[in-house]
Amino acid sequence: MSQSDECHTGGCLCGAVRFQAQGEPVNIRACHCRLCQLTMGAPFFARALFSQADVEVSGPISEHNSSDALSRVFCSKCGSTLFAKRANGTFMGIALTAFDERNLFEPTEHIWITEKVNWLKLDDGLPQYPEKAPE
Ligand SMILES: [Zn+2]
Repeated sequence: MSQSDECHTGGCLCGAVRFQAQGEPVNIRACHCRLCQLTMGAPFFARALFSQADVEVSGPISEHNSSDALSRVFCSKCGSTLFAKRANGTFMGIALTAFDERNLFEPTEHIWITEKVNWLKLDDGLPQYPEKAPE
């Protein structure tokens, strides 16, 4: 099995929702924007981006549109937010902490630093972008 065929599994708090993501992420970022803070109930959303076509999801999920471009996907039973899915059908972010191996992926940059909470001090040396990352 080549690395690109590797499957990465994970799920929600109660176990009702499970997913598997195929291959390697397009990018891995920590997003500090206000919408991510509110939907995650956490200071930031650390996520790995995959093509939606490479991710299989099973179990009871619900979605909420946090903007026209993005919906937040969570377990209907326990409420864990697992994904941020682009409405255009291309990519979806998967919460790093939702993977069974939670240290499998590490963010390589911080985005939306202008909205970061003041008490969080970043000293990991990673690039920090005021808003979205330059593509
Ligand atoms: Zn659940």
